[in-house]
Amino acid sequence: MGLKKQSKLINPGSITYRIFLSYSFLIIVIISGLLIFTNKIIEETYIKSIENNLINTAYILEDDISKTSETELQNTIRKLSGSIGDRITLIDAEGKVKADSFVSDPESLENHYYRPELQAAREKTTGSSLRFSSTISSRMLYVAKISSKKDFYIRISRPMTEIDTIMMKINRLIILVGLSAFIVSLFFNIIISKKISNPVRKTILFAENFAAGNFSHRIVDFSSDELGILQRSLNRLADNLETHIYKLTVEREKLSVTLETISDPIVVIDNEGYIILSNNAFRILYNLKDDPSGRKYYEIIRGTKLNSRIAKAINRQTDEIFEHKFSRERIFDIFLSTISGSDSLAGMLIVFHDISEKKQIEQMKTDLVGNLSHELKTPIAIIKGYLETIQMQQDNAELRKDFISRSISNLDRQNAIINDMLKLNRLETSGEFEFEEIDINEIVSSCLASLTPKIVRKSISVRNSIDMNCRFIHANKFLTEQLIFNVIDNAINYNKEGGEIIISLASDDDNRIRLVFEDTGIGIPDESIDRIFERFYRVDKGRSRSTGGTGLGLAIVKHAAEIQNWIIMTESLSAKINGTRFTFLIPVNDSFKH
Ligand code: ADP
Repeated sequence: MGLKKQSKLINPGSITYRIFLSYSFLIIVIISGLLIFTNKIIEETYIKSIENNLINTAYILEDDISKTSETELQNTIRKLSGSIGDRITLIDAEGKVKADSFVSDPESLENHYYRPELQAAREKTTGSSLRFSSTISSRMLYVAKISSKKDFYIRISRPMTEIDTIMMKINRLIILVGLSAFIVSLFFNIIISKKISNPVRKTILFAENFAAGNFSHRIVDFSSDELGILQRSLNRLADNLETHIYKLTVEREKLSVTLETISDPIVVIDNEGYIILSNNAFRILYNLKDDPSGRKYYEIIRGTKLNSRIAKAINRQTDEIFEHKFSRERIFDIFLSTISGSDSLAGMLIVFHDISEKKQIEQMKTDLVGNLSHELKTPIAIIKGYLETIQMQQDNAELRKDFISRSISNLDRQNAIINDMLKLNRLETSGEFEFEEIDINEIVSSCLASLTPKIVRKSISVRNSIDMNCRFIHANKFLTEQLIFNVIDNAINYNKEGGEIIISLASDDDNRIRLVFEDTGIGIPDESIDRIFERFYRVDKGRSRSTGGTGLGLAIVKHAAEIQNWIIMTESLSAKINGTRFTFLIPVNDSFKH
C-alpha cells in the first residue's frame, strides 16, 4: 500500500507531482530574481557612492597636482595615493601616462586615450568605468576627471574586492535562505498535495468502484472545497443510480420469474429477427443448453413452415394464431403477437402452447363415442333382428322362446356396458374416495363367492396364498372391490376349462404389498399388452363377447389403481405354462401394519 502511494506521488502525471514541479519552479525563479535584484541594487548603490567619493577626491587633488613640477609628479602622486589609499594615475591630454602610484615606470604603460573613463571625462569633465584589471586580477572602478585647463586627466581607481566579498556573503545568505525556503515549501507542498490528492484519490476510488459495478461504495469525509461539492453530487448520483438499478433489477426479476413460471415456451424476437428474451420452457423445447439471446430465431427454430410464418408476421406486423405439428404426438398452438413498444423492444412475442394432450383427449373422445355407439348399437341391431323374426314367425313357439332369451342376454350385455360406463364415469369424475383400513382377504373372498357359479362351470381351481400378516391395507373399499372383481372375472373368462387361478398377497422388500393374480388361460400377445387397459380394447372380440365382457373391465381396473396410487404390472406368461399375471404394488401406510 505504502509503495503504491509512493509510486503515485512520483507519478509524472499525478496532481501531486505537478504541484511539486510548479512549486519548485516558482521557488527557483524567486531565488534567482532575488539574487539578480539584490546584486544589482547593492552593487549600483555601492559603486555610485564610491564613484562620487573618488570624483570628489579627484577635484581636491587637481589643484595640488597642477602646481607640482613634472619631475616631482611621480613622488607627489605616490604620496597622495598613500594618504587616500587608492591608485592615482596622471595622464596627459594625448593619453600618455605621466605618473602612476602603482607603477614605477609609467612611461612603459600603453596609451590611455581611449579608456572609457577618459572618453567620458572628455565629454562631461568626469567619467567612470568598472572593468576587470588583469594587472591586479580584480574588478576595478576607474574614475577620471579632466583638468579645468584640459591639459591632463587625474584618474583614481579602486579595486572592487571588498564589494565582491560582501556580495559573495550576501549571495550565499540568499541561497541559504532560498534553499531553506525550498525545503520548507517542499514539506508544505507534500502536505498540501496530500490534502488535495487524498480527496481526489477517494473520488477516483469511488469512480473505479462504480465502473466495476459496485454501486454501494460511497465517499465519506467530504472535503470542504469545490471537490467536496463534487463528491456530494457523485454520492447523490450513486444513490439515484442504485435506486434505479434496484428498481430495474426487481422489475427484471419479476419479469424473469413470471416468464420462467409460465410452462408454455415463450420467446421474444426483435424486428431484425434476433432473440431478446426466452424462458426455460423454450430452451427445453429446443434442447438448448445456453440462453439463445442475441442469436437469430431461425438458428433455433428450425421448421421452415413455422419460420416463414414468423417472418411474414414480422414483415406485416400482424398477430397470428395457428396450429403447428412438431411431430405426430406434439402439436402446439402458436401465438404470434407484435410488440410495438419502445424501439428497443419492438418485435414479436411467440408463445408455444402445447395442445398435444388436448388433441389426444379429443381423439380419445371421438374414439370413445364411436366405440360406445358401436357397442350399444350392436345388441340393439341383434335384438331388432330377433324381434322381426319373431314377428314373422309368431307360430313357432320354440324359436320365439329361444330368440326372446337371446334378446334378453343382449339387453343384459347392453346393461352391463352402461353400468360399466357409469362406473368409469364415477371413477373419473368423483374426486372423493375415502381411504380406510380394509381387509384384502375379505374382499378377495367375497369376489370369489360371487363368481363361484362361473368358476364351477369352468371347473377352475383357485389357489389362495394370502399372507394374513399384510391383509390390512389403507385403501378405498369400492375401488379395491371393482379392481379385484374385474381381474378375477377376466382370469376366469380367459382361462381354459379345468384351469387354475393363483391369488397371492405378500409384502416385498421395498415396503410395499404385492397383490398377484395369475391364471393358466390364453395369455395376452405382446403387442396387445400396452393396449388392454384402453376402453373397449379386446384382443379377441368374439371371445370377449362370448364371455359377456364389456371391454371396460381393465379400464376400470386401471382407474381404480391410479386413484389409489397402485402400480400395475402385466405379464403374459411363457408359451409352456401359458397364462397371464397381473401384479399390483400397493404402497404401505405404516399405521395399518398388523
Ligand atoms: P373384456 O370385458 O373384454 O374382458 P377387459 O377390459 O376386461 O375387457 O379386458 C380387455 C381385454 O384384455 C380382453 O378383451 C382380453 O382380450 C384381454 N384380457 C384381459 N384379461 C385377460 C386375461 N386374464 N387373460 C387373457 N386376456 C385377458
